[in-house]
Amino acid sequence: MSILATQPKRCKFATAWQRYVNRLKESMNIQHSEIKAAGGKGELLRIAIIGAGMSGILTAIKLREAGYTNFTIYEKADRLGGTWRENTYPGLSCDVPSHLYRYSFEPNPNWSKLFSPGQEIWEYFDGVAKKYDVASSIEYNKEVTKSEYKNGKWYLETADGGRDTVDFVIAATGVLHHPVFPDIDGLGSFEGPCFHSAQWDHNASLEGKRVGIIGTGSTAIQIVPAIIDEVEKVSLFQRTPQWVLPLPNPEFSDEEKQAFRNSPELMEDVYCQARDQFSGSFSEAVIGDKTQMEEIGALCQGNLETVQDPELREKLTPNYQAMCKRLIMSNDFYPAIQKPNADVVTEGIERIEAGGVRTRDGVLHELDVLVIATGFDGHAFTGPMNIIGRNGTSLEETWANGKEAYRSVAVPDFPNFFLLCGPNSPIGNFSLILISEMQVDYVMQLMDLVRDGTYREVAATKDATDRFNADIKEAMKGTIWVSGCKSWYIDKHGNAAMWPWSFQKFVEDMKQPLLEEFELNH
Ligand code: NAP
Repeated sequence: MSILATQPKRCKFATAWQRYVNRLKESMNIQHSEIKAAGGKGELLRIAIIGAGMSGILTAIKLREAGYTNFTIYEKADRLGGTWRENTYPGLSCDVPSHLYRYSFEPNPNWSKLFSPGQEIWEYFDGVAKKYDVASSIEYNKEVTKSEYKNGKWYLETADGGRDTVDFVIAATGVLHHPVFPDIDGLGSFEGPCFHSAQWDHNASLEGKRVGIIGTGSTAIQIVPAIIDEVEKVSLFQRTPQWVLPLPNPEFSDEEKQAFRNSPELMEDVYCQARDQFSGSFSEAVIGDKTQMEEIGALCQGNLETVQDPELREKLTPNYQAMCKRLIMSNDFYPAIQKPNADVVTEGIERIEAGGVRTRDGVLHELDVLVIATGFDGHAFTGPMNIIGRNGTSLEETWANGKEAYRSVAVPDFPNFFLLCGPNSPIGNFSLILISEMQVDYVMQLMDLVRDGTYREVAATKDATDRFNADIKEAMKGTIWVSGCKSWYIDKHGNAAMWPWSFQKFVEDMKQPLLEEFELNH
């Protein structure tokens, strides 16, 4: 059905949401000159933003709009775009609808599909960065290695020997960009091209080749259909099968794109609908809404039954609940994996050899190319930077028993330091952009206390942080992520990296800081 034919639904969280949008719009309408006249101290405070991905670009835009003009974005790579720069594998696309996966203040009428391809998303961020002149504030190839708080300032060091002294550090370092390689014997001994999905070797031709893929996460499930018709054979090495939600990905017609161009209201409606559909279904299901959970489970089960061969269907049948792992959305994985040149290998991997992958039954699966689609360390956050707080304790030491923050954005004893998309930020299958926008808005309210001259130092209290994290642990018990599966969500301490409550609670929590939960020093 055309998206234009759907009736705009009333937003479930209209009131809170509208307040939030109004605030954003108000802040956008204020001219720099007015801000300077009103506050005037924004340019005196120096800010380091670490990372030029989605959150870093956003922070720069928001800071400048609010009159904070003295900032630098430190980016370790030579291009912006974060995860959308790193991942270039065939089939890469987003599983959040395009019209929701964008900055709320920068709608895009030109998305080609309901779920956009990765390159288009990268181009979107690049375009926004150019439009808002963010690029001029980015220092590329500047990896921050150390940041230490002393006497009210943060002292930064970069890998190339650079130094900076700033009042605030905002870590916009992203969630999924530290590739994880499997601990399999002989990984380095494969003779052909062998690379992680996030380090795709575009010089390695796949045409007519025997390609092995290790892993069956969102990434592998997108790669298989994208390459199946080009290669001689795909061998998918599966340790755990995945539930797959059928989701069509139609192209937007020229007529629809024109309608979006003509009507910003229509784009707002679509944004609003997508947000409510996602927050009302997936995000509720994962935190324990049984009806939603069952509906999604039934859709996945129905999809699985489209696999004709009972033996293959059996191999692809998970023994845990749908959504326990990150839910995969795909309309083309099952058709692709049923093609005669696809093979699902469920026998465990013994080792990797020069000529291929040897499984525990002694069989050598001969390959020309090997793709490692084993995911990311979703708990690395600011790593490997050495961030040292006011007591001389590093963030790594502080987080030795688990990565905990106050409302995902602040850490006790790390004053004037904020995280975007920090611990427990992700809301089930939801757009991180919206999450990040609310976090930036929240963080800037804290920064304003320093700009206004009310305080010099802002840090979350330990009590409030401990209470928040105890609440998280309690709420997590009712979520699907801890219902009995292994996933990147869960860290080595058994803590899930997700937000265990509703989207609405996130909106409420991020509206305004509770100042009694902060240590505010003059
Ligand atoms: P992932 O979901 O963490 O999947 C990693 C896969 O590698 C799993 O199937 C895992 O098996 C397997 N694996 C790990 N170590 C292994 C070993 N030693 N031997 C055999 N198999 C091994 O990683 P991903 O697919 O890259 O996705 C990560 C996340 O990125 C997603 O959950 C999603 O949040 C995001 N992402 C999103 C999109 C999108 O928007 N469409 C696309 C790609 C990625 P087990 O299950 O047995 O551990």
